[in-house]
Amino acid sequence: LVLLSCVLSIATGLVLSRGKGGSTAKKSGGLVIGLSMDTLKEERWIGDRDLFVAKARELGAEVLVESANSDDTRQLRDVESLITRGVDALVIIPHNGAAMARAVEMAHAEGIPVLSYDRLITGADTDLYITFDNVKVGELQAQFIADRLPPQGKLRLIRIYGAKTDNNAVLFKQGQDNILNPLIQSGRIEVVFEDWAEDWKPENAKKITNAAITKAGQGIDAILASNDGTAGGAIQALIEEGLAGKVIVTGQDADLAGCQRIVAGTQTMTVYKPLSVLAKQAADLAVKLASGRPIFAKEESDNGKVKVPSVFLPIYSVTEENLRETVVKDGFRSEKDVYGE
Ligand code: BGC
Repeated sequence: LVLLSCVLSIATGLVLSRGKGGSTAKKSGGLVIGLSMDTLKEERWIGDRDLFVAKARELGAEVLVESANSDDTRQLRDVESLITRGVDALVIIPHNGAAMARAVEMAHAEGIPVLSYDRLITGADTDLYITFDNVKVGELQAQFIADRLPPQGKLRLIRIYGAKTDNNAVLFKQGQDNILNPLIQSGRIEVVFEDWAEDWKPENAKKITNAAITKAGQGIDAILASNDGTAGGAIQALIEEGLAGKVIVTGQDADLAGCQRIVAGTQTMTVYKPLSVLAKQAADLAVKLASGRPIFAKEESDNGKVKVPSVFLPIYSVTEENLRETVVKDGFRSEKDVYGE
């Protein structure tokens, strides 16, 4: 079922590499890849980094990593510094997809290709994009709730979106809307409160949930949290109200804490995105870009400026029922970590 390694099927988008650029400052002759990350403060990104660096090394490339602590100015400085240090390709996980258009311009001025990792860099000639199917993530989250409507009356829902600055958060919402809008229009679902959690912070999700309960009272049936971090914040608010375990809560990432909450019954689902597939394929693509080899990508993403050749990876809806056969079986989380002794 899981981890069908998606080989790039040949079709539309041929990425013509900008060739080996920026290698002047380098001492040895090997390839160097710059990885500019938004943050390492959330669990998933540490996994992404480690898997990416390990695979790139295996392929003979060195990786220089920078993390910007959710700060656009800092991320631009990081990119500048990576360019100065002579990277042959840049892999960017943007904090703010629009703000990083400038990073692409800077890289291209030095002939360095840019791979957008997980989140899309918008408004720029981004060379290549690899990600999971983000609209589908939102659809799976919303479908989970749509499948659990009360027999009569309406389901009362709190919607917690991610960071507005993250193009993925917009795509997750789009997927959620695809499923929920008809049910909202027909009156089967009532959205009692909705907001964006700035920088995806759990404490912001907690504040949103507190505000929702203050406004709507305790009769909440479900919280559509867009990832496990924000689900954790929402559940904290539910615990304080004595509501944890009584409300459907969605998530994403199969964070360890998220998986443990699913076992404990306070979170109801997560979306599992096999990070090792993403990180390994991204490393492979980055090495190809760095060495000037052509790449074929089947999909494309309109980023407002160009259609960026794209690779979309599959995702999985996970509940208590299939946690073992997916997340644990894949070795993404260990049985012991998830279920305890
Ligand atoms: C990622 C999610 C992650 C979120 C917060 C999104 O762009 O796709 O996996 O939970 O950012 O870091």
